[in-house]
Amino acid sequence: MNKPVSSKPVSDVVLACRGLGKTYTQGDYQVKVLSNIDFSVQRAEHVAIVGASGSGKSTLLHLLGGLDTPSTGSVTLHGKDFATLSETARGDLRNASLGFVYQFHHLLPEFSALDNVAMPLLIRREKRATALAKAEAILARVGLSKRAIHVPGELSGGERQRVALARALVTQPACVLADEPTGNLDHATAQQIFALMLDLSSTLGTAFVIVTHDIELAGRCDRVLRLTEHGLHPAERMTVLQGATP
Ligand code: ADP
Ligand code: MG
Repeated sequence: MNKPVSSKPVSDVVLACRGLGKTYTQGDYQVKVLSNIDFSVQRAEHVAIVGASGSGKSTLLHLLGGLDTPSTGSVTLHGKDFATLSETARGDLRNASLGFVYQFHHLLPEFSALDNVAMPLLIRREKRATALAKAEAILARVGLSKRAIHVPGELSGGERQRVALARALVTQPACVLADEPTGNLDHATAQQIFALMLDLSSTLGTAFVIVTHDIELAGRCDRVLRLTEHGLHPAERMTVLQGATP
């Protein structure tokens, strides 16, 4: 283990939230979706979040990613509280430290796999040649070197998700937030993508927070948390109980 040189304590916590809550206002109604969530993600940790549809998993990921503003509590990324940052600073921090993968790939249809993967770097104004070289390297890591010049429409569902994963990782973020990344894939392909995420996470030192409905896949993560109306709690016992069902 490398000892920190600075006398300042170095935390391995990448992303954390304290007392996090979200209430949506719909006309005269207040819909409380999340309340009092305390949670933190360590460097290179894999955390799975499971929970019924509508329990607030996507809302939680949006808040953790600084894409939405909490009603109560705070989210800190590398110790920086999103609420204390300007819109621009928040965007920069997000771009530097987080990656996102969604159920539907959200790739740009007119661009090749390579250009899609290079996009986050081009947005950061990296030189095109450097961006493309990094994109090529990460596409190789997800096993898609031979598909680099293909547009998303020419790729299978699993290949598109691998491109989306490469795009999320190309900036070498500290943490990837993945919202049901395998939800639209058949079981065998879902297993492959999940294994790839865990493998890349270990070799690149990237933390992953993965929302999934698949309790078996969730069980391969370091921790499984279940989101219910009572909050976010370890789901170990639930995993054992549901392990018997297909
Ligand atoms: P999950 O991802 O677990 O299925 P969501 O976070 O998408 O759950 O949604 C949780 C609840 O919050 C749902 O009841 C949903 O209708 C509600 N909700 C989500 N986004 C909004 C919004 N922008 N305005 C009002 N209600 C919302
Ligand atoms: Mg959702």
